[in-house]
Amino acid sequence: MSDLKTLYQEVIFDHNKNPRNCGILPTANRRAEGFNPLCGDRITVHLELHDGIIQDVRFEAQSCAIATASASLMTEAVKGKSVDEADAVHQAMEHLLKDPGTAPSELGPLASLSGVSAFPTRIKCATLPWQALRAAMHDAGGDASTE
Ligand code: ZN
Repeated sequence: MSDLKTLYQEVIFDHNKNPRNCGILPTANRRAEGFNPLCGDRITVHLELHDGIIQDVRFEAQSCAIATASASLMTEAVKGKSVDEADAVHQAMEHLLKDPGTAPSELGPLASLSGVSAFPTRIKCATLPWQALRAAMHDAGGDASTE
């Protein structure tokens, strides 16, 4: 388990230091901001959504390492997926953070966030980007809050 923990920490460290798909997306037709008052995290998700498919996704973050890494991992996980598929991954993530013993294998690198489940106050950091994504997908420009 300690090797796995080290690996997970490396994934989170790497995605926090070098976030993927970070910045403004000029072609975005949906966006939503998420705010987690518990930690002070702010994440804006930019989506280019056509015919129910996430053609492209980027995010801007002023957030802690967990939220930034989660957002970065999320963009890699959902790009090219349908809204339904992205919702399913979101649900699997929420499940993972509540019950890390049962991580579905399809979560892939996202499973590196399972260690967050041991820190209840940080779970909202990990789920914030997903709530912003959901708001961007389902409401035309609504905002999300963890509260
Ligand atoms: Zn945070």
